[in-house]
Amino acid sequence: MGRVRTGGGWRAIRYTFKKAREAGGLWTLWKAMRTKNTCKTCALGMGGQAGGMVNEAGHFPEVCKKSFQAMVADMQGAVPDSFFETYTVAQLQKFTPYQMEHAGRLVKPLLLEKGSQHYRPIGWSEAMERIADKLRRTQPQESFWYFSGRSSNEAGFLLQLFARLYGTNHVNNCSYYCHQASGVGLASVIGTGAGTIKLDDLEKSDFVMLIGGNPASNHPRMMRSLMMVRRRGGKVVVLNPIVETGLVNFSVPSDAVSLLFGTQIASSYVQPHAGGDLAVIYGLMKRLREMQAAGEAGNGEPVVHEDFLREHTHGWPELAARLDALSWDEIVAKSGVSHEQIDDIARQYAASKRAVFAWTMGVTHHLHGAATVQAIAELALLRRMIGRPGAGLQPIRGHSNIQGMGTVGVTPKLKDAVFERLQHDLGVQLPTFKGFDTLECLDAADEGKMRFACCLGGNLYGASPAASFAERALAKTDMVVYLNTSLNTGHASGLGGEQTIILPVLARDEEPEPSTQESMFSFIRLSDGGKPRHQTGPEAGPRSEVEIVSELGCRVLGTSGPVNWLEMAHTSTIRKAISRIVPGLEPIAAIDRDKKEFSIPGRALDTPKFPTADGKANLFVHDLPDIPEGLQLMTIRSEGQFNTVVYEEEDLYRNQTRRDIVLMHPDDVARYGLAAGGRCRIVSTAGEMRGQIVSAFPEIRPGCVAMYYPESNVLVPKAADPLSRTPAYKRVAVTVTADEPAAAAARLEPELVGAGTPRDKMNQCG
Ligand code: SF4
Repeated sequence: MGRVRTGGGWRAIRYTFKKAREAGGLWTLWKAMRTKNTCKTCALGMGGQAGGMVNEAGHFPEVCKKSFQAMVADMQGAVPDSFFETYTVAQLQKFTPYQMEHAGRLVKPLLLEKGSQHYRPIGWSEAMERIADKLRRTQPQESFWYFSGRSSNEAGFLLQLFARLYGTNHVNNCSYYCHQASGVGLASVIGTGAGTIKLDDLEKSDFVMLIGGNPASNHPRMMRSLMMVRRRGGKVVVLNPIVETGLVNFSVPSDAVSLLFGTQIASSYVQPHAGGDLAVIYGLMKRLREMQAAGEAGNGEPVVHEDFLREHTHGWPELAARLDALSWDEIVAKSGVSHEQIDDIARQYAASKRAVFAWTMGVTHHLHGAATVQAIAELALLRRMIGRPGAGLQPIRGHSNIQGMGTVGVTPKLKDAVFERLQHDLGVQLPTFKGFDTLECLDAADEGKMRFACCLGGNLYGASPAASFAERALAKTDMVVYLNTSLNTGHASGLGGEQTIILPVLARDEEPEPSTQESMFSFIRLSDGGKPRHQTGPEAGPRSEVEIVSELGCRVLGTSGPVNWLEMAHTSTIRKAISRIVPGLEPIAAIDRDKKEFSIPGRALDTPKFPTADGKANLFVHDLPDIPEGLQLMTIRSEGQFNTVVYEEEDLYRNQTRRDIVLMHPDDVARYGLAAGGRCRIVSTAGEMRGQIVSAFPEIRPGCVAMYYPESNVLVPKAADPLSRTPAYKRVAVTVTADEPAAAAARLEPELVGAGTPRDKMNQCG
């Protein structure tokens, strides 16, 4: 394919037409996209009552490949019964994430029993009774409950409530594999784990530092906001070990000038070591302090707001002493960034009046992820960039409702206020023992201490580090239950020891009743739902998640307890409960009647008063981590995927056409005696992958290699950040050696999938 030199643009528009053909035509796709439902993909937030493709600043049309991919996937035809008769589980284990996703929509409950090689469809009654029966015979502490950010606030709240009334706190969500370090790091410094800005602030800023992420691929409509920053003369500084095409230049499809001529996004692009961000941030703070000491001018304000730091924070003297004691040699060695580059960024920052710091998993996927988030917050505080319009902190969060999951209580430990209100509201004693995070649940399962696992969406197996460990751990439970819209690799490799049950669920825009979601800017949206695309009925068709949980509540906890589980099948009833129990969500009770979407109060900070115990921020001091010897693997997402779901094999902006590759700098290819295009073997302490293809990739920093997630999770050890429990998916020591061509992993070709090709099955539902 021709080399891609800009993100978005005409290719994105052509891609939209291609997806429209798959969906049954442009008008069909347009109608689906414009319904009053929240975008099903990223947490930037789009749609809701303003209609699809409208962002939080009211701009329309916000057209985005990622949202089309998710929509068209939901418009697939059903997986035929013959699929499960044809393929054994052993064969499904060889399917790629792409092949699993494109097998079609799940429409019948499926059962896999020990000793059987095939899933078989079962009725809803049998599926629900099997689950209820297992739960009745299980000690609650021997069950765990994992949630993805796809589900609604209502489904998340209800299932965590069920789990706690059932008797366990082993409730967690997929943020333990992505942004938990952001939540923990931010909460420790400023008292809230959420971002401090609104979309509007991002567009008003004059300096954006984008650390460890590629929103051009993963949050495409954020690029319009960055374009606006650049157009107003602002700076965008990118820190990323890979030079990402879309962060260098992006052609915003909804803007004629940008579409025709492209927009330069990064004003400075810096490639630190993988995991070198903490050292860069400390270097920037030190440089600002030096500039202040030298009496250098900033933007008319002090370069370092020492008065503010003394008045509004704890720990400034200790942090200042640490910065003074750090040597530039150490900063440069541990960051991989020169003194001159750090000076350049520090000067751009010092000249700004409204700075936003935004980051993604390049920051959080490290053993020092939460420490780096703390440092980013401190860098902002040094110049008083929290608590003023157009400035602040924003973790760029992944799935469309992952932030909402945390807000409504999908965490091992409930916030004190939520816990107390729940007990008071229901008149019950809730369990108080320490609930396990995601890795702790799998560890307990691996030790034989878990009998039951339930996954509300997502792909726990696929997202987990040390894939063989996750597979083994789940196999030691008796039963694993999945609620999903389509197949994923977890359904083949994340199996329960006795039974695995897959329950097919409705997509957000097919729900019979309205539901709500929260964006990464803490904005609560209302989704109307819509018509199911597949037949529904008592024993067939996907069901609403809240109906499933409601039925589970009736079957396991009965109808005469503190919760009326029958009534909880209605999302309006659940929202009333949420409004009574979750502080800040009071308006959600009426949202389906008054249609008033809202920002959660107290999240965006307009004044330097922090939601900590005494209103002051806390500053922390860390040692800079050493740079490990040898090649360091970063697991990455491609242009054609979202989280563990792979929609396209190609990675357009990185000019790659397949996923079984290792991206290496050409100098490293030569240094390690490899050949571009040749097969290689990659080994880490967690596992090995063979038969991967070496792709010479000049855009990556030498010393780093990149492979696609989730396939390369085989190589990621399960060691986690001690503060946030987030695994280090982006700095894994590996060796890469030449491999025999015959060692290429056996793969089923896409045309073998199902009774027809994925495209044959598209839109059978009409
Ligand atoms: S940027 Fe995110 S929220 Fe907006 S349309 Fe794209 S996937 Fe949806």
